[in-house]
Amino acid sequence: MTAIAEGLTLDTTAVAELQAGFRGELVERGDPRFDEHRQIWNGSISRRPALIARCAGVADVIHAVRFGREHGLPVAVRSGGHSFPGHSIADDALVIDLSPMKGVRVDPEARTARVQAGVLLGEFDRETQAFGLAAPSGIVTHTGVAGLTLGGGIGWIMRKHGLSVDRLRSVDVVTAEGEFVKASHEENADLFWGLCGGGGNFGVATEFEFELVPLGPTILAGPIFWAMKDSPEVLRFYRDWVAEAPDELMTIVVHRKAPPPPFVPQELHGKPVVMVVPCWIGDIEKGERFIKPLRAFGSPVADVCAPKPFLTHQAMFDASFVTGRWYYMRSCDVKELTDEVIDVTVEHSLKIKSPLTSFPIWQTGGAVSRVPDDATSFNGRHAGFTYNITSCTEGPDGFDEEREWVRNFWSALEPWHTTVYVNFLMEEGEDRIRTAYGAEKWHRLKALKRKYDPDNFFRINQNIPPA
Ligand SMILES: Cc1cc2nc3c(=O)[nH]c(=O)nc-3n(C[C@H](O)[C@H](O)[C@H](O)COP(=O)(O)OP(=O)(O)OC[C@H]3O[C@@H](n4cnc5c(N)ncnc54)[C@H](O)[C@@H]3O)c2cc1C
Repeated sequence: MTAIAEGLTLDTTAVAELQAGFRGELVERGDPRFDEHRQIWNGSISRRPALIARCAGVADVIHAVRFGREHGLPVAVRSGGHSFPGHSIADDALVIDLSPMKGVRVDPEARTARVQAGVLLGEFDRETQAFGLAAPSGIVTHTGVAGLTLGGGIGWIMRKHGLSVDRLRSVDVVTAEGEFVKASHEENADLFWGLCGGGGNFGVATEFEFELVPLGPTILAGPIFWAMKDSPEVLRFYRDWVAEAPDELMTIVVHRKAPPPPFVPQELHGKPVVMVVPCWIGDIEKGERFIKPLRAFGSPVADVCAPKPFLTHQAMFDASFVTGRWYYMRSCDVKELTDEVIDVTVEHSLKIKSPLTSFPIWQTGGAVSRVPDDATSFNGRHAGFTYNITSCTEGPDGFDEEREWVRNFWSALEPWHTTVYVNFLMEEGEDRIRTAYGAEKWHRLKALKRKYDPDNFFRINQNIPPA
């Protein structure tokens, strides 16, 4: 027996038995690889699981789930490891780690792709773009397809092509009983509905099938910068300009201290700026015409919005969200960028201390808002703008102060809060998770949880307790 924590022991014979039938690797405490495999994206989270089961395939996942159940171990599920609050790792838990499962198979004729749970967004895009295709996903290439999709999946092409779940055809799942099931509109349709937004509550997703859309490979995208002192005017102009935007355009606004050159002139480095990042995925000339008034507004200090490969643009935020730094985040949707919302935004953005803090405001709508509300468990199809108030420091130095900045900013926006995206929640309690789904979907999800996971075996997540 190996003692894990008070009252909890891990039977070494049982671990050896698990290993005998396991194709992947088991990493225990004391193993030289333990620290590497317990690290997740958010460096401020350091937890020591009992055992990390690095699965090579579905059989390993089934084994691991049954092992966890048999030994009464709490189970965390890890794919890309990008959970903001760190739900993919837990003290004294069994971590079912799907990150080694990297298979992607694109069928260019059928315009579909099968993707295993350990695939990251950049890996997926690379395979689909080889055929001029894409599935809607997120904006940082090292995020996991699995966790992102199970929460909904918002990104650069959503206004034209919908959320990740809007292009999801089927999911392979290992249930809390360790059974393999398929979920789609045709098979286990109730489960499929739950997986389209309900996160990791209903089982371990091992593979996803997506419908693909033609895209690029050249698109028109990249940031245009102004000094942050100009942000009140820039945001007022921006809000009126995007109100007329066709679905081909998606934008993100970022307030931060200017990153190092070559993007921005040397003299601005470290000075507060506001960036509007358009991403136009239609006809380039038409896009140039639409973006022209934005480029011409006020006195931009830099403009690197230009035709480029979609893959290049997908990676543009990677340098701002480096793995291992310390992050804290609070999120909310607001219906409109009213004058008051803009003023609060600028007031707080000017207080950013860390040179690494960089927070996005997402434009939503378009195709996302035209899918019927009850089609998926994802809620918030009518969010106007999504605030992702994220702080970042290299390590613990300055972290508490920057976190306080996030909380104060988020609180100041409270009068305008509407929905919140479940994948942008921290550890905020059941009421916030219920807010993310809305009362009706919450009750439906709780009933579904009772059907598929009545013991709440999968509870290290944005948890939906069984009804
Ligand atoms: C830098 C960064 C950028 C982001 N950008 C976007 C974005 O553009 N769009 C967007 O929509 N979201 C974005 N997110 C949020 C992201 O969608 C969530 O953090 C998501 O949970 C990450 O998935 P993952 O597989 O990387 O995470 P993990 O930490 O591995 O998993 C997160 C949780 O998802 C569940 N889960 C993961 N894999 C499985 C599985 N195979 N089966 C069952 N449950 C599973 C588990 O409950 C787990 O606790 C971003 C997050 C970060 C950190």
